[in-house]
Amino acid sequence: MSESSPNHWLKDVAAHAGLDIALPRRPDIATLRQAWPAVAKACKLPDAAFTKKVAGYFRIGVADVGTYDPQAVKLIPESVARRYGVLPLSSTGDSLVIATSDPANRAAHRDIVAHSSRDPVFMMASPAVLGPALERAYAPARAPRNALQTLVAQVADTDFQVVTNQGQGLFTSFELEDPAVVKLADIVLKQGVRYRATEVHIEPGAEAGRVRYRIDGVLQHVVDLPPTAHDRLVARLKHLALGQPGINPEDGFEVTVSPELSRRAHLLSTPTPDGELVSIRLFDPHSVPTIDDLGFSGLEARKIEQVLSRKEGLVLVTGPARSGTTSFIYAALASLRHESVISLEGRPELVVPGVTQIRYDASKGLSFAETLQHLLDRSPDVIHAGEIRDLPTARIALRTAVTGRKVLATVHTSDAVSGIRRLVDMGLAPGRLGESLHAVVSLRLVRRLCEKCARPYDPGRDDKSREAKLASVLGVSPVKRAVGCKSCAGTGYRNQIPIPEVLVITPEMKTALGRNPNDAELLRAAQADGMRTFAEVGLERVAKGETTVEELERVLGVVPVRDEAADEVGPVLIADDSAEDRAIVASILSGMGFEVVEAPGGQSAKTMVEAGDDAYSLVLLDLYMDDLGGKDVLRAIRQRLTTQALPVIILTSSANPRDEFELLEAGADDFLIKPVVPERLEARVRAVLRRGGVRVK
Ligand SMILES: [Zn+2]
Repeated sequence: MSESSPNHWLKDVAAHAGLDIALPRRPDIATLRQAWPAVAKACKLPDAAFTKKVAGYFRIGVADVGTYDPQAVKLIPESVARRYGVLPLSSTGDSLVIATSDPANRAAHRDIVAHSSRDPVFMMASPAVLGPALERAYAPARAPRNALQTLVAQVADTDFQVVTNQGQGLFTSFELEDPAVVKLADIVLKQGVRYRATEVHIEPGAEAGRVRYRIDGVLQHVVDLPPTAHDRLVARLKHLALGQPGINPEDGFEVTVSPELSRRAHLLSTPTPDGELVSIRLFDPHSVPTIDDLGFSGLEARKIEQVLSRKEGLVLVTGPARSGTTSFIYAALASLRHESVISLEGRPELVVPGVTQIRYDASKGLSFAETLQHLLDRSPDVIHAGEIRDLPTARIALRTAVTGRKVLATVHTSDAVSGIRRLVDMGLAPGRLGESLHAVVSLRLVRRLCEKCARPYDPGRDDKSREAKLASVLGVSPVKRAVGCKSCAGTGYRNQIPIPEVLVITPEMKTALGRNPNDAELLRAAQADGMRTFAEVGLERVAKGETTVEELERVLGVVPVRDEAADEVGPVLIADDSAEDRAIVASILSGMGFEVVEAPGGQSAKTMVEAGDDAYSLVLLDLYMDDLGGKDVLRAIRQRLTTQALPVIILTSSANPRDEFELLEAGADDFLIKPVVPERLEARVRAVLRRGGVRVK
């Protein structure tokens, strides 16, 4: 195998056949590939026979590339295999059988030893045979996921050492620039952008971590990561995000798939017991959606248009994380940009042309409220006051809103009514609130059925499906069902649509607020005034064939199915000494599909739970019962081992915050203020059962 001759071996073989070819002393694989068939032709030999001749020249065997051991393939990274045109066929303890067209290549020999810690045993194969075999071995054509798995395996198996210390990887630049790691990081990011992911999660795990994409709000599994691959991938990504001179980590870094498709990326890292959890947010800072882009429809679309067109008043936007509040605020600001608009934000996520966006900087020594007050000196027509977290900020927002200006602000609450409740809890008088609050827009996002693959819903054929059961409980007729195709990454859904609760403060609502209502009364007043709940808006979307009941369930909570609830979940115990109140609650719960057991007082409830004849799934206790109060029954339940974890909801007729605190301290899972509003009770029951891990079908 030595290169004793000053000529390349192929030149020698050609000379034997009377052919003088121009070939560098160390040709690369591409040059060799071109020269090979020319020499074979000059020798008047077909490819197979010429291969045999060359094998004889080197005194080695001819390779059978049809049978290779995938385990052996893993020993050599794809980049090395492609660079030298070598394919591992099988391996023993200290040798690795390799098919090659160039057995004299010393660099190949050296790199194979370096990567596999084994001595190569070369077998001859022609470039024409090796090329397709390499494609098969390293890039299975089935799915990109397989290519990714292969790459992950390479990254995990390369033998450089990684030393980590609390997430502080000690990597040399050689390790960070290892072709396999570079390629893996590149593919993970670019594929995320192609799949419309908004977040890429690199999650550690004791056995194996994983990569997941958040697509349309839902985390989707991409590939498993062995711990070594996890550490190396994280190190490479952090190097991209933070480790390069001239890059300000605050600005993030670009992921460019093509000139038309690129995203800004922000990396966030959290230490966990199993290693470092890295999440990368992908977004387009220059694509500000319009209100139309967000896809509101029907009654709520008209209300939102009216709310935004009014010149003054506070518009409160509420919703949990990733429910579309940020997009809504930006779209609203963009729609108002013909006026003078100032936006005070924690970290501006999008650039809205025509809007003065100010980043709140706590290090300057001013509180959020003080900063907001300073900005008002500029007399904007519209101000976005960010998130209202304290009373001073809330007061400024309201004061500004009554002086003929429009104020947008957010609070993190689950629905429209609790948005108002949050402001009242901060210390604002409900009556005063009615003067300056214009509307509360509460948001949730559901995924829209993929237009490419959704199938018509067929009640006859689909009647066993979960979708059918949910639909029958809720009395809705689905139009389409989810399937899954390439266009939607197999999820059955593509993009998200909002289901909003829009609560407008009309003169009627103002009057209602003046009476200092509890949540139940406020909800009733809002509904009487035309507000539709998330579920109502969502079911309309289902009836239009835009989403599914299963999707509503995922976003809004567990919907029990009538014919299964009674069989699979134990009965619900209702304790109240008012027969009338008991009957109201019982009828709501039977309507949800539960078997209901009633106790006429606290003492009997305690006895029934302790007897343990029924495995109750939930207990509802009235707080004030003559013989034994709800709090005492609760205490008894929590003191017994067998009932310690039994979900308990307390019903009370007073809205005293001290009660609330004490009840939660005493171990209540939740509490509700009477009179009971059916929708609210249902939502609380579902939430409590879900938290308790009870699977209600
Ligand atoms: Zn699809």
